[in-house]
Amino acid sequence: MDRREFSKRMLMAGAGAGLALDPARAAGGSGDSYDEPARRLPIRRFDVVVAGAGTGGVVAAIAAARQGADTALIEVKGYPGGTVTEGGTALHSFYNLWKAFDVEKRQVVRGIPQEIIDRLMKVGGCSGHAEMLTAYNYDSVCTAIDTELYKLVAFEMLAEAGVHVFVNTLLVGAIVDGARVRGAIVESRAGREAFYARSFIDCTAYGDLAAYAGAKYTEPNDYPVCNSVGIGNVDIDKYHAFIEANKLKGQLARGMRSGKSDQIVRAGAEWVNLPELAQAARNIGMAMITTTVHDNYLMFIKCNLKLPVSPTDRDAVAQAELEIRRRMAQAVELFRKHVPGCEKAFMARTSPKLCIRRGRCVECDYDITLPDVLEGRHFDDEIMVYGFHDSAPRLQIKDGGTYGLPYRALCVKGVENLYACGMMITSDHEAHMSTRNTVCCMGQGQGAGTAAALCAARHCGARDLPYGLLRDALTQAGVYFEV
Ligand SMILES: Cc1cc2nc3c(=O)[nH]c(=O)nc-3n(C[C@H](O)[C@H](O)[C@H](O)COP(=O)(O)OP(=O)(O)OC[C@H]3O[C@@H](n4cnc5c(N)ncnc54)[C@H](O)[C@@H]3O)c2cc1C
Repeated sequence: MDRREFSKRMLMAGAGAGLALDPARAAGGSGDSYDEPARRLPIRRFDVVVAGAGTGGVVAAIAAARQGADTALIEVKGYPGGTVTEGGTALHSFYNLWKAFDVEKRQVVRGIPQEIIDRLMKVGGCSGHAEMLTAYNYDSVCTAIDTELYKLVAFEMLAEAGVHVFVNTLLVGAIVDGARVRGAIVESRAGREAFYARSFIDCTAYGDLAAYAGAKYTEPNDYPVCNSVGIGNVDIDKYHAFIEANKLKGQLARGMRSGKSDQIVRAGAEWVNLPELAQAARNIGMAMITTTVHDNYLMFIKCNLKLPVSPTDRDAVAQAELEIRRRMAQAVELFRKHVPGCEKAFMARTSPKLCIRRGRCVECDYDITLPDVLEGRHFDDEIMVYGFHDSAPRLQIKDGGTYGLPYRALCVKGVENLYACGMMITSDHEAHMSTRNTVCCMGQGQGAGTAAALCAARHCGARDLPYGLLRDALTQAGVYFEV
């Protein structure tokens, strides 16, 4: 039977059965929409539900579970880690900017984030807090990671803490009762389920849970999106020699690499003396700062693209996914052609989807301002302190000190039992250029996870938690405070 005959028979069969030709109408829809039948969902009950096992979510879930909360962690990918393993170059920053300001050296983020680094060091997956040799008015240390070992270490630490880790599971909705979230609706190959809990933390980067719960948010679309490629089969020392020979300005740090200390682990070159190459890099949105913890591997070469619309737009993102993959292939080609030691380089790793620097910005009880950051303000309810700004040396925290992140900045406005954590807080772009960084997101995770567990145990809402209890629990768990 040829195609025309097949179509004719199908048409006749449809007409004979009295069916509408529009499949949506045939199934009970109204032409351009479909009324999905209600379904009865199985319920699972927890004390705390954390949505998103990324940079902040991993720490939040470990913190909650260590406080004794029965904790569920929902992650759409097959592993924990998030953008810290997929987007950036190094973890900024565990320290204050002591070198630039010639002040006391202080490790200002400790606790669970530092435990992750300790574990990574043991398996050869981290440079350590490698001191910056140049450009230390930008950061005093460079903490580079092996992205794959990070995922494994995070997974193991979650398991050891007793977290129920639901990977390959997508958060698709929220069950809301007045000002409280009762449940998170998830979907996986196990079907559609409702995860009930007393406290919830949104660590999805996109603010999905907060949006489903009806919280207010904006979509500033103020950053480019990115995918980053790991380039294998390179010679880091030859690459470094090339940078030196061409007097390329940039960032340099030495730390642990392939089991040896005092090796180049961060090499950042603005290719100013190689204008043709610099232009080629600009054409594909390629950033030239990279890190490594292996002799033959460049961990992150970023290719950026500015979308005309928010990265919550599925169709615009689909186009960008293709364009950025083309750019990553061109980036590897540039290295192969122009950079000694990279002649036989290949694309060893890409992120499974493009990375965002900001999706939704969720409205919380307090919005951290740029003066809060730059003037190093501290608060009477802070959950951590932080001392890094991505726009240094243009914008730096006063005197190489720190500012505090208030607990209120994590409490989602209008919702009794929901915290926001990570890149989704802080509306001011310049302030966000500090709070969005990995180490800050991790610290926020410890604050949010601890608070959520304490609230669940006391059957109270986020605003009824006595700050003294939270502060004591954080201090006992190794979190550093200055005041
Ligand atoms: C290209 C790029 C470069 C960067 N460079 C640096 C750098 O050099 N140094 C630095 O310190 N910071 C850097 N940052 C910033 C930093 O990496 C991020 O801001 C930070 O990691 C965000 O952490 P997060 O916890 O908010 O989100 P993420 O780490 O992105 O975690 C979100 C998690 O939620 C999951 N998720 C999302 N939606 C759902 C859903 N509906 N259901 C289930 N799971 C879901 C995601 O899969 C992900 O695992 C960079 C960011 C980007 C994008």
